[in-house]
Amino acid sequence: MGFVCLRNLRDESLLFEIDLDSDIAKLKEAIQERESIPTGKQLLYFAGQPLEDGHSLSYYGVSAGSTLNLNLPVRGGVIEPSLLQLAKKYNIEKKVCRKCYARLHAKATNCRKRKCGHSSNLRPKKKPKT
Ligand SMILES: [Zn+2]
Repeated sequence: MGFVCLRNLRDESLLFEIDLDSDIAKLKEAIQERESIPTGKQLLYFAGQPLEDGHSLSYYGVSAGSTLNLNLPVRGGVIEPSLLQLAKKYNIEKKVCRKCYARLHAKATNCRKRKCGHSSNLRPKKKPKT
């Protein structure tokens, strides 16, 4: 197992713990879970090279600590608006614990941290300033 870093559409770095010998498709599933982007719409790049299903991460020379880039299919040089919206919407709909400021899933009803007693005092994450 190793951690790989993924630069998402909002230019945030996400860490994924994954077996480097597992298939690219498996990483895409993990990304789908966290970013709500269907696996079929994800374009992954490592060092400018597209990563395709059916090969492992190590096949492409990805090692622990490597940074991958996530892109969406472009149509005429523009990212599909529906997908960009989805990515933005997902960010806004995240929740934050009022007690310990942990970032939580949009559908969370209680905080996952023990230090605030799994508080149910949550608020939606503020819209990021652009
Ligand atoms: Zn909390």
